[in-house]
Amino acid sequence: MHPDVEILRAAIRVPTVADRDPALTDPEPFARLHELLAEHFPLLHAQLERVDLGDAAPRALLWRWAGASADRPVVLMAHQDVVPVTPDDPWTHDAFAADVVETPDGPAVWGRGTLDDKGQLVAICTAVERLLADGFEPAQDVWLSFGADEEVSGPSAPAAVAELARRGVEPWFVLDEGGAVAGQAFPGVSAPGAVIGSTEKGTTTLSLTVTGRGGHSSTPPTRAPAARLGRALWRLDRHQFGVNVPGPTVDLLRRLAGHLPLPLRALLAGATRTPPAVLGRALVAAGPETAAMARTTMVATTLVGAPAHNVIPARARAEVNLRIMPGESVAAAVEHVRAAVDDDEVVVDVVEANEPSPLSPTTEPEAQGAFALLERTVSAVFPEAVVTPYVMMAGTDSRTFTAICPRVYRFAPLRMSKEQRASIHSYDEHVHVAAWLEGVDWYVALLKGL
Ligand SMILES: [Zn+2]
Repeated sequence: MHPDVEILRAAIRVPTVADRDPALTDPEPFARLHELLAEHFPLLHAQLERVDLGDAAPRALLWRWAGASADRPVVLMAHQDVVPVTPDDPWTHDAFAADVVETPDGPAVWGRGTLDDKGQLVAICTAVERLLADGFEPAQDVWLSFGADEEVSGPSAPAAVAELARRGVEPWFVLDEGGAVAGQAFPGVSAPGAVIGSTEKGTTTLSLTVTGRGGHSSTPPTRAPAARLGRALWRLDRHQFGVNVPGPTVDLLRRLAGHLPLPLRALLAGATRTPPAVLGRALVAAGPETAAMARTTMVATTLVGAPAHNVIPARARAEVNLRIMPGESVAAAVEHVRAAVDDDEVVVDVVEANEPSPLSPTTEPEAQGAFALLERTVSAVFPEAVVTPYVMMAGTDSRTFTAICPRVYRFAPLRMSKEQRASIHSYDEHVHVAAWLEGVDWYVALLKGL
């Protein structure tokens, strides 16, 4: 196997699972990962400045690679932690064995974290090490920020942002996980879509609680808490958020239009000239995936009632998960939910609040154009890919960086099929060896192009 791939495999074998409670996170796999990186990337460790984030984020990794200039520093991100493996998930190969598996598309490294997100982390380190070996100096300062708790919204990214702010570092752009070189990304488009997240929705969770008279289920009162909660959830379902098609989505449709087969091409080209509200309603009507591109979404997730089947719960509680569209706010979403529920007995609380991220520019003039640089680099390494911005539905650590940088992009230069994208946070996650090596080449090209 290619020697660079061996370090990826070694990194996958360490189960760096973070827990929401830092006290429950096993530090050993993280220490082991750090040792592996030190072993395999000696030049990176010798020549870059390691910045300790102290007790705030003891396992986070932050490095500064001094460039010829510090005027337009760049931050490359990835995260060390992975989501746990559920015993019921039918992995065809052990999730932490990093087997090399022959597939119809060539050999692949199998395991948790190959795509999310150690594949990206090790690719960045490999590119840096390769350039250092050539005596390369980047044109700009390059920061590497690898959090240890992205999957549990932990303190790594906020601590890195605080440290950069303390040093007065104002990044030109930040690049984190998110989009990919996605095969079968759009129905009818054969070219892969190099989708670069230019903003992300705000992941927010609210709880709805009804308290009332519990007791024995043989003598039920009218409108017991569970029924009242049920009515509230039904009302929410009936009062979805209004359509709001943000700029990146219109841009995505516009860029795709030219790649669609003819009848569809005409339709989509026309669609981008239609008023946003009409376009939004069409996207909502086309199915859940396109609907999520066109409005804030909400759905009930957890439900808690009585612990026994013959007990009326005195308290019925549901959590509702929202993905708030850029341009809207948590406060307005809470208002919408309260108004839709329209019942003072239903208490709406905020469990977790994340505002949507600001839009990062995608059409700036060449000189400031970080998006243009990403686009050029994609075209150099993946010439057949259609580059397009998009709105990410999921959250990444990079949202924290929007506080110190107006250009935050979310993209991993890895080819992923639809099936591979579905394996993230699920089972049978794997990256093709050739695709991963292309990813390394992409980072090399990006760093050379700064
Ligand atoms: Zn991730």
